[in-house]
Amino acid sequence: MKRICVFCGSRAGRTASWRNAATALGTAIAARGIELVYGGGGRGMMGAVADAALAADGRVIGVIPRDLFLREHLHKGITELRAVEGMLERKSLMASLSDGFISLPGGIGTMDELFEMWTWAQLGIHDKPSVLLNIDGYYDALIAFLDHMTDAGYLEPHQRVQLRVATSADDALQDLLQAAVPPTDG
Ligand code: AMP
Repeated sequence: MKRICVFCGSRAGRTASWRNAATALGTAIAARGIELVYGGGGRGMMGAVADAALAADGRVIGVIPRDLFLREHLHKGITELRAVEGMLERKSLMASLSDGFISLPGGIGTMDELFEMWTWAQLGIHDKPSVLLNIDGYYDALIAFLDHMTDAGYLEPHQRVQLRVATSADDALQDLLQAAVPPTDG
């Protein structure tokens, strides 16, 4: 696996363990010689995952629309900046650059990215795995709702299991590596 895309909040959230998980994940990705693809922000969960990967001598690629440079506090120290024109281009480039996706705690932007990658997998647009990193129960309610969707007949069991769930950065990385498809060239 050459590159992993991490989706996460532009804010840090109220619980230190969520931010600590972002740091642990950035460190673990870099330690394995895998490049980090993320939203390019310098603060919150995004800043934490990027700072940690850079501190561990990892390569970090930030994919961010030009009009969000200021609002999302573009990270000044990343290895490579990929400036794009909008959100759809951002998600498309993140998807094509990466071999898999991990979602840390975040807000509606993170949800949008998580579900877009999952629905693209369901539609056969890509075959890259996604892992939901459920730190300290942040995503318990979402996981319960996904199970409810399955019980209600709106989500097929084989689709439900496509979204893997892990409870630590190391487990998320391990799960993603096990589910890996051959790396991209791009
Ligand atoms: P949030 O989880 O709301 O803090 O947002 C996390 C990241 O998702 C931020 O970088 C947002 O700019 C980004 N984001 C929000 N909406 C979208 C979207 N429709 N497509 C791609 N990225 C988005």
